[in-house]
Order: sequence, then C-alpha cells, then structure tokens
Amino acid sequence: LLAASDSDGVASYHQVLDQQSLRRLQLGTELEQAMADGQISVVFQPIIDARTSDIVSVETLVRWAHPRFGAIPPDEFIHLAEQIGRIGPLTDHVLDLALARCRRWLDQDIALSVAVNLSARCLAEPDLVERVQRSLRRHGVPGELLILELTEGSVVDDSVRSSTVLAELHALGLRLSMDDFGTGYSSLSQLRQLPIDEVKIDKSFVLGMSTSQGESFIARSIIELAHNLGLRVVAEGVEDELTRKLLTEMGCDKLQGFLVSRPLPDERLESWLLARTGVRSAAPGAQHRRL
Ligand code: C2E
Ligand code: MG
Ligand code: MG
Ligand code: MG
Repeated sequence: LLAASDSDGVASYHQVLDQQSLRRLQLGTELEQAMADGQISVVFQPIIDARTSDIVSVETLVRWAHPRFGAIPPDEFIHLAEQIGRIGPLTDHVLDLALARCRRWLDQDIALSVAVNLSARCLAEPDLVERVQRSLRRHGVPGELLILELTEGSVVDDSVRSSTVLAELHALGLRLSMDDFGTGYSSLSQLRQLPIDEVKIDKSFVLGMSTSQGESFIARSIIELAHNLGLRVVAEGVEDELTRKLLTEMGCDKLQGFLVSRPLPDERLESWLLARTGVRSAAPGAQHRRL
C-alpha cells in the first residue's frame, strides 16, 4: 500500500494518504468487536436551564478508546460507521448505554432526561422506531426521558419519509431536537412541518459570540425565529461567561458547553450532580425528582 520512498513531495503525500486509509480500513473491521469488548463507551455532557441553572438533561457522546490508536474522536468513526453500514448497531449500542444509565438514575429517584445523537442514515432504517421502542421497554425508561438529536440533512434529504418516522418517534413520547442548527440547508419554516421540539444553535456560531457581533446576530435571529415557531432553543459550545450572559439576555432556553461542564464519564457526572444539586438517593417509592 505504501508508495516507494522518494525524495519528492508527491510520494510522501501518497504515503500519508495510504496510512490514513489503512487506519480507516482497520477501524472499520474492528468496530463490531470494539463494541463487544467495551472499547466503545459514552460520556455525558450536562445541559442547564439558562435562567435557573438547573440541570435539565445530559447529551450522550460516544467515545472509542482504541488499544493502539488511543482515543478516537466520534467525528472520525461515526462517518466511517455510516459508510460501512454499521451505524445502526453503533446507535443501538449508544442508546443501550444511555438508557441503562437513565434507568440507574431513575432507581436513585433522579428523572434525568438523556439525549442521544441520531445519524442521518438512521432515519432511513425501516426498523428504527421499533428498535428505539424495544430499548426503552427493555430498560423500563419512559419515552418522555429520551431526546433524539437529529441533523438538518437527515430531515431535508427525504422529508416525506422522515416526517413519518419523526411522527412515530414523537408518538413514543420522546422529544426531538435539531442539532447543529444553522449549518445545514433547512429553514425554520420547514421545521414547522415536522414534530421538532427544540433546536440547538451550532457551536460554530456560539464560540464566536464573545468576539464577533455577526455571530451574536445569528444566534439572536435563530432564538427569535425558533420562539415564534414555538420551539425551545439550546446553545451548544458555551465556553465563557460573556457568551452565557448574552445568550440568557436573548432568551435562549438552555445552555451546554465547557463553561457548564465538559462531557463526563458516568461516575464523574454523578459526583457533579451531587455537588451541584445535593441530590441523594431518596427512599424507595418516593416521587421521582424531575431535574
Ligand atoms: P454534537 O452532537 O454537536 O455534540 C457536541 C460536540 O461539541 C461534542 O463533541 C462536545 O464535546 C463538543 N462541545 C461541547 N461543549 C463544547 C464547548 O464548549 N466548546 C467546544 N469547543 N466543544 C464543545 P464530540 O463529543 O467530539 O462529538 C462530535 C460530534 O460527533 C457530535 O456533535 C455528534 O455529531 C457526533 N456524535 C457524538 N456521539 C455520537 C453518537 O453516539 N452517535 C452519532 N450518530 N453521532 C455522535
Ligand atoms: Mg448532538
Ligand atoms: Mg450539536
Ligand atoms: Mg455540533
């Protein structure tokens, strides 16, 4: 696979490419086993109410701890899983880990909503709704505690089919969130025809807010338009106090970002929750605390 060593730049360029495709090839063949071996795990990033700072949900983010390559970011292997047709099993795996945690929190009388990212490809899978329903049932988690985050492309590509699937998901009681809003091709008026509950302003706009008026203007416009359509708004990528203040003044409903917390492994989330809310296990049978 490697190009013969050469002194000109062309050969080394090919060599780099080949190493990348070799790695992709390797990761592709290892994905399934990695799930079985527990190399694929999830972390949870808290999302808070902008006004009260109460935690309202957590976003589940997948992680791959590879024995040789180390930590592989999701941006690298999600796309790969899509291309090799393994995004379905990967999504099921993440959903399973997320709902298992959600169930454990429920057992501690903490009703914490959990969000899971859905790749565009997943909406085209004929059994998606059934799999989500089965997973909820298996873990005994009410649909109301699950949020699915979709990207704009997934609903625009085949809007007739996706609106049917989204309506069926909605009927399970779960909430739908439009992720990375502002980067795709959908318009807010298109969203109105879909059973979407909230939009997440893409972090590319939020990250620039403290330094650029243009980004602030985009955020403000998204918030106003979304509210006019009856949608809640989450800002992702909130890293500093000024951005938090601006977003809160603009009426943004929820905040997510390193300022609040980085994504945390399960044990660290639990201590984070405890430190922040003083939540402790209540007596069995006590009312669930809705966070
Ligand atoms: P996303 O769904 O938009 O998730 C938010 C990403 O922004 C996460 O990156 C998170 O760690 C990062 N982030 C959060 N707050 C901040 C901040 O204040 N500053 C900065 N610079 N970044 C922040 P992560 O975990 O690397 O995930 C990247 C993307 O990979 C996700 O973007 C999502 O599209 C995809 N992804 C992650 N987990 C899954 C999954 O289980 N299934 C699918 N289909 N996609 C996933
Ligand atoms: Mg997301
Ligand atoms: Mg996002
Ligand atoms: Mg994003």
